[in-house]
Order: sequence, then C-alpha cells, then structure tokens
Amino acid sequence: MYIQFHGAAEQVTGSCYLIEAGKTRILLDCGMVQGSRLEELLNREDFPFDPASIDAVILSHSHIDHSGRLPFLVKSGFSGKIYTQKASRDLCRIMLKDAGYLNEREAEWENKKRQRKGLDLLTPYFTVKDAEYAMLQFKGTNYSEIKKISPTISFRLNDAGHILGSSIVEVWIEEQGVKKKIVFSGDIGYPNRPIMHDPTIIKDADLVLLESTYGDRFHRSPEDTHQELTDIICQANSDKGNIIIPAFAVGRTQRLLYDFSKYYDEWDLDRWKISLDSPMAISATEVYSKYTDLYDDDAAEMWKNKSIKSLLPNFSFSKTANQSMQLNKIPSGQIIIAGSGMCTGGRIKHHLKHNIWRKHCHIMITGFQARGTLGRQLVEGAGHIRLWGETLKVNAKVHTLGGLSAHADQTDLVNWYKNFSQNPPVVLVHGEPVAMQALQTKLKNETSSEVLIAKKSKKIDLLNLSNINFI
Ligand SMILES: [Zn+2]
Ligand SMILES: [Zn+2]
Repeated sequence: MYIQFHGAAEQVTGSCYLIEAGKTRILLDCGMVQGSRLEELLNREDFPFDPASIDAVILSHSHIDHSGRLPFLVKSGFSGKIYTQKASRDLCRIMLKDAGYLNEREAEWENKKRQRKGLDLLTPYFTVKDAEYAMLQFKGTNYSEIKKISPTISFRLNDAGHILGSSIVEVWIEEQGVKKKIVFSGDIGYPNRPIMHDPTIIKDADLVLLESTYGDRFHRSPEDTHQELTDIICQANSDKGNIIIPAFAVGRTQRLLYDFSKYYDEWDLDRWKISLDSPMAISATEVYSKYTDLYDDDAAEMWKNKSIKSLLPNFSFSKTANQSMQLNKIPSGQIIIAGSGMCTGGRIKHHLKHNIWRKHCHIMITGFQARGTLGRQLVEGAGHIRLWGETLKVNAKVHTLGGLSAHADQTDLVNWYKNFSQNPPVVLVHGEPVAMQALQTKLKNETSSEVLIAKKSKKIDLLNLSNINFI
C-alpha cells in the first residue's frame, strides 16, 4: 500500500501520482509538463510504470498540467476508466483535442527542420484522434458521490473552487484489513472568489497531498485587485492603446468576462471593443454556460439565462484565424483576451508581436507563469523578448495581477489545511521549491504536523504514516 510521486514534485506542472492498494493500481491525474521546449520534451517519454497495469485514473480537473497526458496513457495501453466531474469531462473534450492539434502542428514544424538535416522524422506523441479515442474512457461523476473502483479503492469528488468541475479528491484504500484515507487537494481556490464556490472543507484524512503553487505568496485583497484593474483600464483609456491579456482558456477567461460584465459601467467599457480571440476559450465559455448550477449565487444570478452579449454589448468572439489577424491591424481601443496563458503558443504571440513594442499598450498577466515560459520573462521584467527569431523591445506596460489567481495563497492553504482534525501528515505537491519550502516552514510552525516536499519517483508507505518518509 503506497503512493508514488511521478510529477508535480518540486515543480508546478505534470501532476501524476500512483496509488497501489491490494491488487489495484490507480493514478491521480496524468498531466503534462509545461515550461521550456526542453522540459516539454519530457512529455514524449515513456511512462515510468506500465500503463496497461493501471486500473483507473481519478482526474482532479481539466487543466492540461493535470489531464494532458491522458491520450498518451491510453495510446500506451491504459484501458480503464477516467473518473472526473461531469463539467471537467466536457472541458477535457475541448482541451485534449486542442493539445492533440498542437502536437500535430509541432511535429510538422519540427519535421521540416529534420528533413533538411536528414534526420529521422518525429511522430506526434498523440493526435486529435488519440484525444477523441481517450474521451471514450471518461466517466463523468457528480460531486459528493462515493464511487467504488475496486474492492480495495473508492473515492469521492468535492468542489475545489478552482475552475468549473475542479475537485478535491478523497480516496479510501484498504489492504489486508487496514484502511487509509488520502485527501488530494488538486488545485484549490479560496473563499469568496467570483463565480466559484468556496473550496470544500474536509475534516479527516490519514495523508494530505496539498498543492503549493502560491505557497510563498499573499494575494491582494479582492478590493485591491478591483482597484488595480480599475487603474489599469483608466490608464489605458487615456493612453489610447490596446490591452492585451494572455489568459488560460478555462477559468481565467470566464473570470475576466464576469468582471467586465459586472463593472461595465464603472470601467466605461463602452469605449472599448472586447474580443475573445481563442477558439478553445470560446468553447470552454460555452461549457461554463451549460453548468450554471455549479456557480456561486452572485454569478448564477448574473449569468443564468442571459447571453454574454446581452451583458457586454461590445464583446465578440474571434473564431477564425482571419478574424484574429484583423485585430492586429487596429492600433487602439481594443481589449484582446487570447491564449495561451503563459504565452508559449497560440494567438497571443501574434498580439504581443504587434503591441509589445508600443508604449501606449498594456499587457495584463493574470495567472501563474511557469519557469522557462515567455510569460515568466514578462513577469520578471524582461526588456526584450524574442518571437519567431525577431527581437522585440518591451515598451508596453506589463501588469501582473496576482489577485485574479485561481489558486489559494499561503494563508488560504494553511487555513484550508487547519480544518483537518488531528493534523494528518502532509506531502506538498504542485509547487516550485521556494514556494514549497515557505509553505512547509509555515505549516510546521503553525501546526505540529509532519510536512514533506514531494520527491520525484519516490514512494511513501501508507502503512507507516506515523513515521512518514520517502522510500
Ligand atoms: Zn488548475
Ligand atoms: Zn495545476
């Protein structure tokens, strides 16, 4: 009876943990590594376990750093079910197909270079078809229902308040009459966030896997974040440039649209044209519209039975590449939301190319930027960036808004953990080392708990949690 850490160990992305109890082996998440090109090559490597030997996957949520390698897992022999909340399943259908499409384009691009060098050609490690095939193994479930995977393992999903359909996962396992309960936080939100419910409070566990993305940060208060947004839009109004927002298709985009709808008059948004320039974010927004029952009361009241266009009259979806290119020609008065969220690909790169060197433009960074990404360079104040072999000067004003994050900060994480009775041991996952160490110190100081930092490939013996250590 053990858990093994195959990803998101001393890094944020690539979430993947293997649990074995009795004869059953399950995975919690099967995510992609996101970062530099070199780091992302790791996604193509074989799994460090036999995919055919895995009985089921429990998926916390649809973000690609949690779900992105599922098509590759299926292609490599996994034939079991993939359990996730129903909205999360619908979002995965969009996101995994998109990931397959990007893989195909990436391989095409790489192969042009390889052909010229006389090297062997690459095949995409999974395609759109592979993603569609993997979707057949998905089993959508509801929050709060206990599901049995085998005689030795059952689980329950609970609202994590991070994005639509995101879950905190409770897993009950049994071996030779010994029962243990693991709680995996997944990515968790925080109380009083727009659209989402507060993260579910769980009171009992034998072991907690806790995310630590912002384990060393403190978000600004909602009031300060609101003021920050107001100031940026006000400044941009007088600068008469564009506002470019790299946004994650699922979660952040809908949050921004919610804020724009709510503060339409206060922010004088009728002076602007607002475009959502991402086919994937458009599809994700449609899924959000389908599951209004998962919203908190404010969002449900504002959005139920209303179209976005009735709330935002100057808003448009930019679906085709041609529509996207048209946006590049307009020098001012536009708010453009485009993916990818970390500026590693997609239409945002084109908008940056056309706007970043212009001092009247504003770039709004709204979410976590992994090491090695272009978005991270912007957050760290790069004076120049490189796009398609061209060096561009960063003259636009770059704003980083931590308060729009979909992740709990240090205080939220500690408060959520403190709801557990009897201080169960904690393994920190999903964080960069500095954030993990800060959260480890804080948790140790405030509770008497054992707090470990996940180590890649290492195991924990679940029968020996009173003396918890990696083996
Ligand atoms: Zn997430
Ligand atoms: Zn994540």
